[in-house]
Amino acid sequence: MRKAALVFIGLIAVLAIAVFAFQAKLGEMLFQRAVEQNTARDSMADLSDGLHVGLCGTGSPMPNPDRAGPCNIVVAGELMFVVDIGEGGNRNIAQMGFNAADLDGVFLTHFHSDHVDGLGPLQLFHWTRGASTAPLPVYAPEGVEAVVDGFNAAYATDDTYRVAHHGETVVPSAGGGSEARPFVMSGSSQVVFEAQGLTVTAFTVDHEPVAPAVGYRFDYRGRSLCISGDTSKSANLERACKGVELLVHEALQPALVQELETALKAQGNANAAKIMFDIVDYHASPADAAESAQETGADMLVLTHLVPPLPSAFLYPAFLGDAENRCAGPIVVGEDGMFFSMPAKNDSIERSELL
Ligand SMILES: [Zn+2]
Ligand SMILES: [Zn+2]
Repeated sequence: MRKAALVFIGLIAVLAIAVFAFQAKLGEMLFQRAVEQNTARDSMADLSDGLHVGLCGTGSPMPNPDRAGPCNIVVAGELMFVVDIGEGGNRNIAQMGFNAADLDGVFLTHFHSDHVDGLGPLQLFHWTRGASTAPLPVYAPEGVEAVVDGFNAAYATDDTYRVAHHGETVVPSAGGGSEARPFVMSGSSQVVFEAQGLTVTAFTVDHEPVAPAVGYRFDYRGRSLCISGDTSKSANLERACKGVELLVHEALQPALVQELETALKAQGNANAAKIMFDIVDYHASPADAAESAQETGADMLVLTHLVPPLPSAFLYPAFLGDAENRCAGPIVVGEDGMFFSMPAKNDSIERSELL
């Protein structure tokens, strides 16, 4: 018995020495394998015809290493869009196997910085990952022109370096940056994009004092989804999203945010405490989102833009509170990399993980 134990320990020691001695070679082999798998990955090509939404960012302005800022990938047939592009969203889009060069545009819900601060890297990837010959279209309510102009100005010098270094064939100068496609909301909802069987409808939401603020409904070949943008419980969202199958809704848990406020106050950080107090009234609680899901008749509710940050799934029940009693369909607490597919050929909602 003792002899067997000694042989076993000896074998482990030999193995450890071998791994140490050949670490560089093994690392090279592992890297090569990862390169082959990742460079060949194309999630867009793997999708069936239908309507799909991926969560490329489920966080908020609060720091959270596991969640990028607000970001959603929407694929409808051959078309691919991003709705809001928070910090880190671009990285997730690439890691989820999508190529930003395939994007047909971005839809912004409003101009809070956490919803636009990833536009710089996204427009860069749109340009450089596929030799794009036209800027990235950015659809949003009026006011988007200033945001787009700002990003283009900030990236103008970098663009000249890329062209000088890689040449016009690889990075055609005409394709750099992004281009504003503003729309004016004349009522509470209106169609803002229509092509290849996809209809995108913008609808106003309640995010006072932030205006304009909209959400988007996507309808494609009998399948439908709504993305709320930032809003407190919105009757207009419930109207515009009536009959939708999948509702992606923002959520803030007031009880947890109030705990943050109390702690910050006790530490003498009145400024941060005031911000915690202020943010509660222009976001929806998980219970509000669940009630809206019930009102629309959505088959599934996916919560995103999670406030406060939730470092572990163990906290999800505390975050949800009694939300699950308020709607019939399942509630999914969104995580970066989650992907939901609604094939045109049936009524299912299929969930997968791309990160
Ligand atoms: Zn906002
Ligand atoms: Zn936000």
